[in-house]
Amino acid sequence: MNTVKKHFGKFGIALVAALLMLLTFALCASAAGTETVVYLSGSGTNTADGLTPETATSSINTAYSLLDPDKDCTVVVCGEFTQVGNFARAHSAKSITITSVYGDVDYRKTNKAVYKVNGNRFALADDTTFENMTFETTGGSFLLVGQHHAVTIGEGVTMKNFDGSQDGKAFWIIGGCQWGFGGGPTSKTYTTDALKALMQKPTDVTVMSGNDMIVVGGPRGNVGAEANRITGGDIHVTIGGTARVAKLDAAGSGSRYTDVGNINVRVIGGSVKYLYGTRVNNMTAQSLTLLWTDGSIDLFKMMPSGTAAAPVGLSIADGGDVTLEATEDVQKGSNYATIYASGFTAETTHTHDFDTENGKVLTPATCQAEGRALYTCKTCSTTEEITLPKTGHAFGEWTTTTPAGFGTKGEEKRICKNCDAFETREIPAQTAKLELGSNSLSAETNKAGEGTIRMIVKLVTAANANVTRYGIFVAKTSAIGDAKLVAYTKAPGTETTLVLDLAFIPHDELDTPVYAWAFVEADGVQITLPLAVGASVNTIIG
Ligand SMILES: [Zn+2]
Ligand SMILES: [Zn+2]
Repeated sequence: MNTVKKHFGKFGIALVAALLMLLTFALCASAAGTETVVYLSGSGTNTADGLTPETATSSINTAYSLLDPDKDCTVVVCGEFTQVGNFARAHSAKSITITSVYGDVDYRKTNKAVYKVNGNRFALADDTTFENMTFETTGGSFLLVGQHHAVTIGEGVTMKNFDGSQDGKAFWIIGGCQWGFGGGPTSKTYTTDALKALMQKPTDVTVMSGNDMIVVGGPRGNVGAEANRITGGDIHVTIGGTARVAKLDAAGSGSRYTDVGNINVRVIGGSVKYLYGTRVNNMTAQSLTLLWTDGSIDLFKMMPSGTAAAPVGLSIADGGDVTLEATEDVQKGSNYATIYASGFTAETTHTHDFDTENGKVLTPATCQAEGRALYTCKTCSTTEEITLPKTGHAFGEWTTTTPAGFGTKGEEKRICKNCDAFETREIPAQTAKLELGSNSLSAETNKAGEGTIRMIVKLVTAANANVTRYGIFVAKTSAIGDAKLVAYTKAPGTETTLVLDLAFIPHDELDTPVYAWAFVEADGVQITLPLAVGASVNTIIG
C-alpha cells in the first residue's frame, strides 16, 4: 500500500512538471511570434495565419501575437476592420507600423480597407506609426494612447466622420497615460514603481497628417492626489505635413496633481486651431517652448479653463520660460504677434540648420545636370528641397593618342569616369630629334690590345628650339655601374654631330658590354635615343 502510494506520488509530480512545461511553452508561443508583416481584415477569420491578404486574421490581438518582439513589424489593414472594445497589449514588437498600403498595393482602393471604431480606446506598448490608412467612427471619439511610447501619425491618414469636438467625435492622440485604461494609473497613489517610472518617461507624439484630432502631449484624465504629486517626463509634440489638429493640449488634459518636465511643441507644418497649456485642471511644467517654423496656429492660451478671475490651465515652475521660437517667415506672418502676446514670456528666432551631409537625394546630380535633394533641419526637422550643383566631369589621366614627332604635333585625350565625355588637347611638335647614322657605333683595337668604342649621333633642332641640355650617357652595365655622362648646355646649331669615344678599354674588358643613350632636352621635352644596348668592343667589331 505504502509502496503503491509512493509510486503514484512520483508520477503525479512528473505529470505536474510536464504540464508546467507545456504551459510555459504555450505562453511563449502566444507571446512571441516570428512574423514581421501580418494582415488584418474583418473579412478574415480569427484562426487564419495572417500571413497574406487572402489569409488575413480578423483579430487585432491575433495579429499582434504573431509579431516578432525584437523586430520592426507591420500590420496591414487590408480590408474593412472594426475594433471591438478597447485594445491594449503588452510589448509585441520593436516597433509597429499600421498601414493600408503595403507592397505597392493600396488596400483602401483595392479592398475598401478602413479601420472602424466606435468610442474605443487603443493603448500602445511599443513605438507605433499609423500611415496611409483611414479611421472611421460610427459613433463617439477614439482614444489613441501612447503611454510614453512614440506615437506617430505618418503620411496619408484620414479620420472619416470625426468632428474634432471635445465631447463629440474627436480622434484623440495622447502622448502619456490615460487614467483607468491600458497601462495607465487607476489609483490616486500610483501604486507601482513601474507605473511611476513609466509616467516619468518623456512622451513623443508626431502628427504629419489626419484631421479632427485632439492631441495631448502628456497624460489625460489623471486623478492623482496632492500627497502623491508626480513630476512626469518631458513632453515632445510635433505637428507638420498636412495635419489638421482641432486642439493641442500641450502638458496634458484633465489631469490633476500632475506636473510634467519641459514641454517642447513643434509646429513645422499643418494647422493647429487651438493650442493650450492644458485644460480642465491645473498642471505645472518646468518650461514650455513652442518651435514654430511653418503651418498655422489660430489661438494660444496657457490658462484656457476656469474664469477670468480664477483661470485654470498650465503654470510654469519658477525660473521656467514660455518661449516662442519661430522662423523669420513665421514672425512676419499675420498671426505671430497675436500668438506671442497670448502668454509667451520669451521669443527667439529660429534659423534652420540644414544637415547638408545627410540629405536624401531625390535626383542625383550628373556631370552636366543639376540634381535635387531633401535636407532636414538638425533642430526642427523641417525639410527643404535644394538644388544639387552639377558635378562636372571627372576626367581621368591624359593618355597619348597620337605621339608628337619632330615638327609634327601629337594629340592626347582624357575620358570622364562618369559619362562618355572626353577632352583632347594638342601635344606640341618636338623641336629636337636625335638621329643615328650607319656609323653611329664603331669599335677598334690598338697595337697594345686596348679597345675604343666610338659613338656618333646627330642632333637636329628647329630654328626656334630652346635646347637646355644634350649629350650622351654611358653605363658599363644595364644597372648603370661606372656611368659616364657627357652633357652640354651651350645652344647647339640646327645640326650638331656628337661624338664620344670610350678609349683605352683594357684588353681583358673587350667583351664588357656597355649601354649608352643620346639625349636632348628641348622646350621642356626630353628625348632619348639608345646608342648601345649591351654592345662590347668584340661584338661591334664582330
Ligand atoms: Zn529648423
Ligand atoms: Zn562626365
